[in-house]
Amino acid sequence: MSLFHGLPSHTRRLGRRTFVFLGGLGLLRKQPSAAPLSVPPALPVSRRAGSQAAHGGLQSPIVNRQSSMIFDAHLHCPSAKGDVWQWHKVTPTFEAFVAYLDRTGVGRGIINSVRCQEAKTPAEFIAGNREVARYVEKYKGRFLGACVVNPLFIDESLREIEECRKQFGFVWVGELCNYTVPYEYTIKNFELLVEQVTRLNMVLDVHTEQEEMAYIIEKFPKATIVFPHFGDDREYANIFKRIDLVARHPNCYLDTSGYGHDRVGMLEYAVKTIGPDRVLFGSDFSINDPSTVIARIQNSFLSEEEKKKVLASNLMALLKRVGV
Ligand SMILES: [Zn+2]
Repeated sequence: MSLFHGLPSHTRRLGRRTFVFLGGLGLLRKQPSAAPLSVPPALPVSRRAGSQAAHGGLQSPIVNRQSSMIFDAHLHCPSAKGDVWQWHKVTPTFEAFVAYLDRTGVGRGIINSVRCQEAKTPAEFIAGNREVARYVEKYKGRFLGACVVNPLFIDESLREIEECRKQFGFVWVGELCNYTVPYEYTIKNFELLVEQVTRLNMVLDVHTEQEEMAYIIEKFPKATIVFPHFGDDREYANIFKRIDLVARHPNCYLDTSGYGHDRVGMLEYAVKTIGPDRVLFGSDFSINDPSTVIARIQNSFLSEEEKKKVLASNLMALLKRVGV
């Protein structure tokens, strides 16, 4: 989750981001908008796949689909009762969520539930993960489920991660967002959580500030970790540091969502520095619009091969590493 694009209740970070945004307004007034406002031309294959999958028509294993499709590593789906991460709700149901992905050309994705993210009890995050499992089953082949837990309830969390792995075939834990709960990543319970994720050969997806990212990378060298967002809450100070940090650790990946990808050149810097294999397309939808991220990738100075890798192939390769 990116709080720059986050919810009004998250005022601490939003306030700081607003200051940065206002500082840039003078520049924006002098120049036409650099970001295309229209939805980029969708890949025909993605369109067809999205439409078929929405009706449950695709049965092939998710990693065997054509690599030209767009595969989103970072999706927050609405809860069954209509809770959705959006400043003003326009996709309150899962069907609306899928329909919007169809519009943007996103053919596949990894989904976690807002119900888990907002859960105050183990029963709630467990129920949210079950909703995700039902959506994965209903839209067979289109989505992979991600398990979200709260390490403050460590016994239930460890059981739930194992259950999601063994019963539902989830290979992804997160996006874990410690500030929504809140907790610190330095607590012993988080260490136990990561040990469980690693033991079960799953991917850890964790939202961090720069210092937290450095701690987690140092602490858990055996974990396979996806970090959302090029930049963090102090984007200008930390965006290069974050990219450079991921570059030095081959067990780590960076997704394009939220902070920073829209700063022209940063995607190119990330691919150049990290290499073409560990930058993943992520949108942070339903908070942010996948179209803008896709447009930046498609209009970038990357080679066509690198664009394909970022949009889908890198995620498929990562999933193969964890047994999908
Ligand atoms: Zn997110």
